[in-house]
Amino acid sequence: MLTNDVLDQWDRENFFHPSTHLAQHARGESASRIISGAKDCHIEDRNGNRVLDGFAGLYCVNAGYGRREITDAIAKQASELSYYHAYAGHGTEASITLAKMVMDRAPAHMSKVYFGLGGSDANETNIKLLWYYNNILGRPEKKKVISRWRGYHGSGLMTGSLTGLSLFHAKFDLPLDGVLHTVAPDFFRRENLEQSEAEFVAYCVEHLEEMIALEGADTIAAFIGEPVLGTGGIVPPPEGYWAAIQAVLQKHDIALIADEVVTGFGRLGSMFGSDHYDLKPDFITIAKGLTSAYAPLSGSIVSDKVWKVLEQGADENGVMGHGWTYAAHPIGAAAGVANLQLIEDLDLIGNARDVGAYLNQQMRAAVGDHPHVGDVRGEGMLCAVELVKDREGRKFYDPADKIGVQVVAALLSSGVIGRAMPQGDIIGFAPPFCLTRAEADEIVEKTKAAIHQVL
Ligand code: PLP
Repeated sequence: MLTNDVLDQWDRENFFHPSTHLAQHARGESASRIISGAKDCHIEDRNGNRVLDGFAGLYCVNAGYGRREITDAIAKQASELSYYHAYAGHGTEASITLAKMVMDRAPAHMSKVYFGLGGSDANETNIKLLWYYNNILGRPEKKKVISRWRGYHGSGLMTGSLTGLSLFHAKFDLPLDGVLHTVAPDFFRRENLEQSEAEFVAYCVEHLEEMIALEGADTIAAFIGEPVLGTGGIVPPPEGYWAAIQAVLQKHDIALIADEVVTGFGRLGSMFGSDHYDLKPDFITIAKGLTSAYAPLSGSIVSDKVWKVLEQGADENGVMGHGWTYAAHPIGAAAGVANLQLIEDLDLIGNARDVGAYLNQQMRAAVGDHPHVGDVRGEGMLCAVELVKDREGRKFYDPADKIGVQVVAALLSSGVIGRAMPQGDIIGFAPPFCLTRAEADEIVEKTKAAIHQVL
């Protein structure tokens, strides 16, 4: 077996890591973290440290780690048929079964699922399908897409543009033309403190209406949003937000893309965020929870309305030139089938709802009154603690203070993983759905201790 020192050296010399401070890592200023095993809600590294993963990897290991039902299904699929493509109508038992399972669970007005690999490519697919759709309908000008500041939709050229976080734009020449950003639906951070929640929603609507009026509704194809802002700080929408936004979109014939990469398959305690907030999207993006990250797989789900137009266009345009080699990969599909089955057999969505509510309630009780905690919020198995410099004066930390990073480091050294969200001062939790109440208590107690240690 290779020693940790050798692995550490090879890592720094050869491995170009995503979302990492490249220079610090190469110089060895940050520790290499070599993960070697995991079970249920815990991961283990090569130094024998075992920690409670309060973020389920990147909020994706929803079923928990080490599930034999899923790994056996993967092994069986790999030995029987490791690959065949899905072009020109090809399928496998796994991919066809998974498509049926996804569509049986998706909102009733949705029609078909196009399988990809990850959330970014699934969002790219949805945007391409939307443009294709508008071209078939003879409205080639209707192409712009509205996203929200602090939305996260991926790291590709288009999806990185849709993402409303400056870290993902700076020095990459993003956003591309044709992508617009409207206000983040974050009531806690509203600029005008006089606004009630209803007034803040009215302000979000007004901003959107002004943007549409300025650009022209006939140039705007879609509005994309996560049912709950995720990477942008785990922000559930204010009361009435989605109903009001959907009314504007319907009025102007603008499609809704619900990015359910995080919320799909139970994270909010409902099968989809669209069910949870009564959304009627034209497109839904799914990824993480589809396979609980046992294998890469994503999906772009289109509504009946969209499908009818695409099908009609096919007779005029022939084969649709959009495909990935690994679309509907049989190993990913087998993982998806076993994962969705397991989640239902064990009622993990029910557990996400119950233990998630408990986690949020206990977190609020434990740290809600701390002078540097401005807000504790969440929905389902999502929870966030927002740190503030001055609670009464509502002053925020400078991102350069890296307050969140410090708290998360203290938390990790006590044995719990939380995530410093990119704004710098929000600590996020999104544990596996199998979290127990005792593990929720551990997250809460150690978060409290970490906040007291740093602040
Ligand atoms: N959309 C949302 C809401 C996400 O949270 C993410 C990733 O975190 C993505 C899209 C991108 O998914 P991926 O990283 O699999 O490309």
